[in-house]
Parts: sequence; structure tokens; C-alpha cells
Amino acid sequence: MKYAKKRRPRIGKALHRIGKDGNPVKERHINVLLLRAQCPICYSESRRHSKRVRRLFEIGLSCETDLMVHHGMYYCPTCNKHFPICPETIAPKHSGYTARVIRAAIDLVESGSTYAKAAETMYKKYFVDVSHASIHEWKLAKDTKALETCGA
Ligand SMILES: [Zn+2]
Repeated sequence: MKYAKKRRPRIGKALHRIGKDGNPVKERHINVLLLRAQCPICYSESRRHSKRVRRLFEIGLSCETDLMVHHGMYYCPTCNKHFPICPETIAPKHSGYTARVIRAAIDLVESGSTYAKAAETMYKKYFVDVSHASIHEWKLAKDTKALETCGA
């Protein structure tokens, strides 16, 4: 669906559009924009440079759902660097899926289903198309993180 140029996204409300395969896709918009943020390198306060939108696959209850996260891009004059701020509680860095999707998939595996079966359930129950290899990677990442935190 194409939006008019000046139209602002309706934060918090869901829009529906028709996906590539002809099925409806729900779009939810959330806003995590801040005027200032701390630079991750030198910790000095940096001003917002621009706005970005990140599209993530989210758990859907009635149809496929995309979570559109409106976040900021910040500029630190000390380091001469631009950096984005998008909370890790919403989605891990460089991930196309939300943290909620990852948690749900790991829960399925931990409750005893195979990776292939978990991927199938994710599609049938939550309308999230995810490969069993991705679920395997998330599970491995979670297990290694747990090992590191307990000092093994
Ligand atoms: Zn800096």
C-alpha cells in the first residue's frame, strides 16, 4: 500500500495492506523517537540527525503482522559518527524478527518440539514465516549466552 507523501503514520494503530501473496498483512506502528541520545562510544549527549523506520516480523493472531518501529538516527560530533537507537527489548541488533517471535520459537523448542515442527507451528499459529535454521541459531545463541552468564 502506498501512502500519500505527507501522511503521518498512525502510531499505535494498525493498518492493513495486501501482501505479495495476496493475503492481508497487518502493520503496527510504534514510536521510540527521542530528541537526544547517548553516544555508545564516548557517552556524550548527541542530537537526533534523522528518523528511520525499521520493519520487523511480529507475532500475528489473525494474519501476518509487521511491526514498524520509528526510531532515530543520532550524530555525535565528538566521534564524528552516526548511530541508530532502537531498543534491544523490541528486537536484537540486525534481526528481522522481534524479540517476542524469538522467545516464542525458543519456547516451542524447549517444550519438546523439533526445529522443523517449531517452524511449522510458528507459521500456523502466529503467521510468522521463519526457517528452522533460524530457530536453531536463536536457541544456540540463547544457550551460549546462558553459559557465559553462569561463568562456564
Ligand atoms: Zn561519541
